[in-house]
Parts: sequence; structure tokens; C-alpha cells
Amino acid sequence: MGASRQQSKLQEAKAELVSLLKVLSDKVDLERKLGVNYLQFDSVIKNTISYEENVISQLPTPEPVFDNVYNYNEVDKVEFSKSEKIAELNKLEEQVKRCTKCDLCKNRTNVVFGVGDPDADLMFVGEAPGYYEDEQGEPFVGKAGQLLTKIIESIGMKRGDVYIANILKCRPPENRNPNANEIVMCSPHLIRQIEIIRPKIICALGTFAAQTLLNSTESIGNLRGKFFEYQGAKFLATYHPAYLLRNPDDKKKVWADIKKVRDFLKENSS
Ligand code: SF4
Repeated sequence: MGASRQQSKLQEAKAELVSLLKVLSDKVDLERKLGVNYLQFDSVIKNTISYEENVISQLPTPEPVFDNVYNYNEVDKVEFSKSEKIAELNKLEEQVKRCTKCDLCKNRTNVVFGVGDPDADLMFVGEAPGYYEDEQGEPFVGKAGQLLTKIIESIGMKRGDVYIANILKCRPPENRNPNANEIVMCSPHLIRQIEIIRPKIICALGTFAAQTLLNSTESIGNLRGKFFEYQGAKFLATYHPAYLLRNPDDKKKVWADIKKVRDFLKENSS
């Protein structure tokens, strides 16, 4: 192998390493934002970061790996009026519609940003758009969506009273599970939605939303029905409506969970 070819291979390897380290660094940042307690692991993390900085400092300055990352840290965490929430969400939606941070942008028909009352006390978070959601650009519009609407109505609310969003804004091919890179790249959009809306309670629908937001590997069976705190809001997980369509016997567990949400909202109505 000639010297110039060797040099080029070395540059490629370095670029790949920088890319991997950037993903790792973003993941650590994201998990910190999600409230992961790294106290026990601080020395490991610090060593990882200093190793990363040390390696990167010896490399030639790379091209930005992600040149369209919206830096949510630059936005003040302020409480918005309803009209300001609408304006902020519209601004964010325009940014997300242009997002190409992961490969899911390549096959999407529509970005599925979120829908509902920007001033909602209750926010539902699902996993990712499916076929119909991708077609229509709205979350939860298929059969599972119809069931979610019934669940909302069962506690005396209308679909328009709540806000509904997913962890991922673009449809994974064949409705496969999202991968780690997609979650890291897309979660800041959801975090910003939550910061703007500031719901009193977030209800995670299904394993994936619950595990991602709680940064847990526990099963949904263990996580559901319990109150947690998330970004200043109460947080409760329950089964995904699509799961209920396949397992109707578990509807009574969702009814028990959603009653807790209803009661919490009643006790905390302003
Ligand atoms: S899934 Fe999220 S991160 Fe990936 S392209 Fe769509 S909006 Fe961007």
C-alpha cells in the first residue's frame, strides 16, 4: 500500500473515530438532560471525556459531523404564554421539518411533529410514526390512534385538550424499533416540546417511550402505573394502544393507570 493511500486510510479511520466519539458525547449530554444520575460513574465519564478530548486534540480539525444540530441549550427555559407557546412550537416545527440528523429523513413522507393544545396539562408521548402517521403527518391516526382518543375521552377530555407527540418524528422503515443513534438525534426535539408546553403530567405510551424517557431497561409491566418526575412534570407510563389492540385483556390495567392521571389532574387543577 502506497504512503498516500495509507495516509488516506488513516484520515478515514480518524474521521470515523471522531464521529463515534461525537455520538457518545451527545448521548451522555442527552442522558444528563433526561436526568440520568451519573454520580456513581463520574470518574468513568470524566476519564472517557478526557480521553476523548485528548484523542481529538491530536487530530486535524474535522468538518462538523452534524452541521444542523439545533442547540437547545442556547434557548432560555422560560415559561411562555399560550400565544408564545404557539409561536415557539411553530418555529420548532419548521426546524424539525428540515431535520436531516438521522437517516430516517430519507424515506419520510411527512415529519410527524405533534398535535394538540400547546397549553395542555396532559401530554402523551408515543414511540414513532407508523404508515398512516407518515402519510398524514399527524401522530396516532390509525386504529391505535382511535383507541387513544377513546382513552382520552374516558377521562372526560377531548383529543384537542391534550398534546400528543412521539420520541421519533420520522417513520422507521417497516415500523422497526428505533435505534440508539436515531433516539439520540431526535430526542432533543421532544425535550424542547416538553420545555415549551410544560405539561403538568406526561403519559408515556408503551415500552419504548417509557424506557427512553426514564432511561430504564425495566419492562413496561414494571414501569406502568407508577408516578415518576420528569423535567418538572409528573410522569406515568402505561401500555401502548397498539399493544391493547392485540391484548384487550390489559385494557383494565390502562383504565387503572389513566384514572390516576385523571385524579392527578383533578387534584392539581388551577
Ligand atoms: S427522526 Fe428525528 S432526528 Fe431523524 S431525521 Fe427525523 S426529525 Fe431528524
